[in-house]
Amino acid sequence: SVSLCWLRADLRLHDNHALYHASQRGPVVAVFIATPAVWREHDDAPIKVDFWRRNLQALAGNLQNQGIALRILEADRWDQCPQLLLDCAAELGADALYFNDEYGLHEQARDDAVMQAWQARDLHCQRYTDQLLFPPGSLQTQAGSMFKVYSQFRRRAFEALHRHLPRCLPAPEKQSVSTPQSSALPDAFAGLSAASEAQQALWPAGEEAAHERLQHFTQQLLEDYEQDRDRPDLDGTSRLSAYLAAGVVSPRQCLHAALQINHGEFDSGNPGAVSWINELLWREFYKHILVCYPRVSRHRAFRPDTEAVAWRDDPEGLRAWQQGETGIPIVDAAMQQLLQTGWMHNRLRMISAMFLSKNLLIDWREGERWFMQHLIDGDLAANNGGWQWSASTGTDAAPYFRVFNPLSQSLKCDPDGSFIRQWLPALAHLSPREIHSPPVDDLLNAVDYPAPILDLKSSRQRAIEAFRSLGAEA
Ligand code: FAD
Repeated sequence: SVSLCWLRADLRLHDNHALYHASQRGPVVAVFIATPAVWREHDDAPIKVDFWRRNLQALAGNLQNQGIALRILEADRWDQCPQLLLDCAAELGADALYFNDEYGLHEQARDDAVMQAWQARDLHCQRYTDQLLFPPGSLQTQAGSMFKVYSQFRRRAFEALHRHLPRCLPAPEKQSVSTPQSSALPDAFAGLSAASEAQQALWPAGEEAAHERLQHFTQQLLEDYEQDRDRPDLDGTSRLSAYLAAGVVSPRQCLHAALQINHGEFDSGNPGAVSWINELLWREFYKHILVCYPRVSRHRAFRPDTEAVAWRDDPEGLRAWQQGETGIPIVDAAMQQLLQTGWMHNRLRMISAMFLSKNLLIDWREGERWFMQHLIDGDLAANNGGWQWSASTGTDAAPYFRVFNPLSQSLKCDPDGSFIRQWLPALAHLSPREIHSPPVDDLLNAVDYPAPILDLKSSRQRAIEAFRSLGAEA
């Protein structure tokens, strides 16, 4: 009998738990449920949805080679998923459903409802941990609770990896029985425009493209990752986040690729490999936080005492930040990188998030939403974690009095200004000394660039006071 494998953020053939185990049982049909109205409601960026669409297209070809059809279903709401899957099963004579877990309150509620509906009809339903190395909640403190401090979480993760290194699963074997026809994919999903050709070229779809990127990174860049990872002017990081978020590559594949370079070591040896594995564990940490502390999934601060911060209502400041018109070059260049490519370097995400939540003292949730609406790698757990870290409202966050100074950050992370020059052509003529803080005379002389919208020193002080007045802990 046939099994359905419901694909979501796991758009790959290799090392896909649900797909592999379904195929071990017998013939499989892969199913994807397009829910454009829900995606829009969840602020999923059009560029990200287009990336899913292009990866589905690539995956359909790979699945076809294995004799597995891909059915695309469509629903307006997630509560229609149980019935839609049951109807599909009835049509194809399927009696089992396999899928990999997704995280977040709505996702978990949707999946629980599907599982209940299948089990109520005595149909087989099996789910797997696949997006993560460890099931959320499985790494605990000695008192049996979830870690709140990353370094302690990492220590436990290392212990667990020493005991058992998760392996990568092979692709499903080629099916010998004939399968139904695959569905055609649309050119775009309703209300979510396709990415431009230039954007598509920056983010080529498919497992092969992801593995080329992983290989290029581990062979050419990993060695220097530790020194270069904070330099947006260099090509120093993997740029795999969109592929990890859509599940085109798995965290196990990334881990093993780094281990191969580092003679099987994850907590010693090559500093680049150790530091990169550390980032993969941050990804893990924030997803565990999301599941174990569901309030962060409900737009609440991890630290309840920070809910009372008197955030400023400043639509003009918010707009200037969103459009990259703050007059602070490193912030504006970062926001241009986001708008034009759907991705922003990690150091710049921290700088621009601090600028919004501290210097502008605008609620971090505004920034979180804007990032989600534009990131190709938008991920609820990592985005929320990054924003709450920057706004000092999160777990193991930056202390509220440690406000980044965007100018000194700019000098450190873009020493000769080449990143700023790339994204802000109006400033391209300025010298490395001037470009981080353009001389006001120059701006008056008709340079097409705004004067700073705020004073960095007094706005920093205002933020510190806003937190201190709550009696907030550092
Ligand atoms: P690399 O440096 O090559 O790191 C490898 C992988 O590790 C990344 O692809 C990513 O999956 C993971 N990773 C790295 N840093 C972090 C981190 N701090 N937290 C969680 N995972 C991490 N990352 C997202 O994937 N989606 C988001 O929506 C997102 N929003 C963010 C918002 C803010 C305000 C901040 C400060 C960070 C955010 N990050 C997010 C984390 C990080 O900025 C990106 O993962 C990273 O820039 C992606 O580039 P890369 O693939 O070259 O990373």
